[in-house]
Amino acid sequence: MRIAVAGDLFRTRPRRALPRKVVPVHDETFASFLHRLALRNHVPGDVLHAYLGMGRPRRLPELTDLATVTGASQTVLSHALPELRDSASRHCGTTAGWPNQVRPACRHCVASRGIVAPVMCWMRPEQSVCPRHQLWIGAGVTTAAEQLDLSRLPEISRAQRRHRRIIRRHGHQVTAEAFTEATDIVAAWTQNETYDAARRRRHEIFYGPRRATHLHSSGHYAAGYPETVALSSLIASAYWRSLAVGNGAAAARFYAEVQRRVLSDYTMDSLQHDPVSRWVARKAPRWI
Ligand SMILES: [Zn+2]
Repeated sequence: MRIAVAGDLFRTRPRRALPRKVVPVHDETFASFLHRLALRNHVPGDVLHAYLGMGRPRRLPELTDLATVTGASQTVLSHALPELRDSASRHCGTTAGWPNQVRPACRHCVASRGIVAPVMCWMRPEQSVCPRHQLWIGAGVTTAAEQLDLSRLPEISRAQRRHRRIIRRHGHQVTAEAFTEATDIVAAWTQNETYDAARRRRHEIFYGPRRATHLHSSGHYAAGYPETVALSSLIASAYWRSLAVGNGAAAARFYAEVQRRVLSDYTMDSLQHDPVSRWVARKAPRWI
C-alpha cells in the first residue's frame, strides 16, 4: 500500500493497515516501535505521524488508530508498549518514566525474534543483565554493540538479584540515591587505581588486556557493578549510615562491613584518602 501524503487523507482517521506488520517487543518505547514500523514499510516518519494524527508537538495516537494502522489488536499494543498502558494494563510490565530508563533491548533476544532494526525498551533500575543470554544491558549501553558478554562473570548476575532485593527493602528513591553515591565511590577507586584488581580482571575479559575505555562506558559500569551494588546496600541502610557517622567503635564496625561486603582487601590504613571516608565525612550526615 502506498501512503499518500496529501492532506485529504490526514483529515480523516486512518482506515487501512500498513502492508507490513511489526510486532511490538515487550516494554518497547512507543518511539522505537513507530520507528520500526516506518522503516519496515518504507514510510517517512513524518508521514506516519501525520497518518496517525499525532500533530505537533507530538502526542500519542488514539489506540484504535494505532491498531488500525498496525493490524495489531489494542490489547497486544497496550500490553506491550508502556506509554500506551492504561490503569488496567499497568501491571503488565515496566512503566514509562522514572525510575526506569530507556536502553537498547538485549540484541540476542531481538535477533531471536528475527528483528534487525534497533529496539529501545523501558528498563527498570536493576535491569542490567539479560538472564537468558548473560549480556550486560545496563548503564553505559547506548547501542546494542556496547552490550557485553557476562558468561564468565556470574558475580554480575548475582549483583543484579541483590540490587532487586535492595529496592524491595528500601524503595526506589533511597536505593537510587545510594546507588549514585556508590557509583561515584567505585569510580574514584578506579581512577585512583585502588582496590581495582577484580574490576581490571572483568575489564580485561570484556576488552582484552590493553584497551582503555572511559569511565562512562558500559565496560566500566559492568566491571564495577558488583562493588557498586554491595556498597549501595550499606549506604541505603539507615542502620549502617548511623554507624558510619558514629564514634570510633561504631565507625570501625561500618568499615569492617565495607571490607566484608564490598572488598575483601579493603583496609582502614589511609582513610583520609579513601572515597568511602570522604563520603562519610561530607555526605553521610545529610542522610541521617
Ligand atoms: Zn537476551
